[in-house]
Amino acid sequence: MLKLGAHVSAAGGLYKIFERGADLGCECLQLFTRPPSRWAAKPLTDEQIAQFHSERQRFPAQSVIAHDLYLTNLASEKDEVRERSIANLAEELRRCHQLGIDGLVCHLGANKDCLETGLERYSEALAEVLAETEDSPIPVLLETCAGQGSTLGHQLEHIARIVDANKGHTRLGVCVDTCHIFVAGYDLREKESYNEFWTKFDSLLGLERLKAFHLNDSKKPLGSRVDRHDHIGQGEIGPTCFQHLLSDPRFEGLPAVIETPESESMASTNLETLRNLRREGFKSNLE
Ligand SMILES: [Zn+2]
Ligand SMILES: [Zn+2]
Repeated sequence: MLKLGAHVSAAGGLYKIFERGADLGCECLQLFTRPPSRWAAKPLTDEQIAQFHSERQRFPAQSVIAHDLYLTNLASEKDEVRERSIANLAEELRRCHQLGIDGLVCHLGANKDCLETGLERYSEALAEVLAETEDSPIPVLLETCAGQGSTLGHQLEHIARIVDANKGHTRLGVCVDTCHIFVAGYDLREKESYNEFWTKFDSLLGLERLKAFHLNDSKKPLGSRVDRHDHIGQGEIGPTCFQHLLSDPRFEGLPAVIETPESESMASTNLETLRNLRREGFKSNLE
């Protein structure tokens, strides 16, 4: 069974995510180690790092992943942006290493000139980052993206190209976002298309590359390539896709976090919905 959790606010101190996660009954957490829409970040202090580790020990059942900045764009057609992104991603991986985080979720960026060139620029930049951070060997989890505008990563082939260009580097994993793949055109609602998706994933990437999920419903329809998250079971995806995922024995133990709207007031409802679906799936597997 998947571990269920949420993206939790780190307002007031990174260490606060653990208590907030515990209040929601989270079995895994995701955080930003810094404000995601700003390049500059203060280095972590020894006190912040120590506090984070000691608070984590109080809640040992929670696995923790981080999400990279929104600004990072290793695929950019602009050299200046790409260089800055390389430096920042390396810095972010070092921060994650200091905090003992299990993996960093990264978007594939965008290239306004050409998708092919974007994938090449991304692959080469990522190789640089991986080489530069051998002393902070945090896994990089490439996230499936919605395909808005000139962004990359809305087809599994894009992610496979990057992994292959990096010779299947052991630090590369994948984070599947249910909303993003749905608006990118992958339909996981019916059992047949659900199975087709995972067969494709396995042949292109290998199921062992899958390291995390973002569980979000979608306000926008299949194939729309517009990224608007919705409450679990309330959007265009509906409950069946989540039922399939939550009863799939291949994904045992993987972290799955929600990034649903109105997180302050609605996270507990969305998690409860998922826990109910997981319980039902568990029962029907026994029958
Ligand atoms: Zn996501
Ligand atoms: Zn999204």
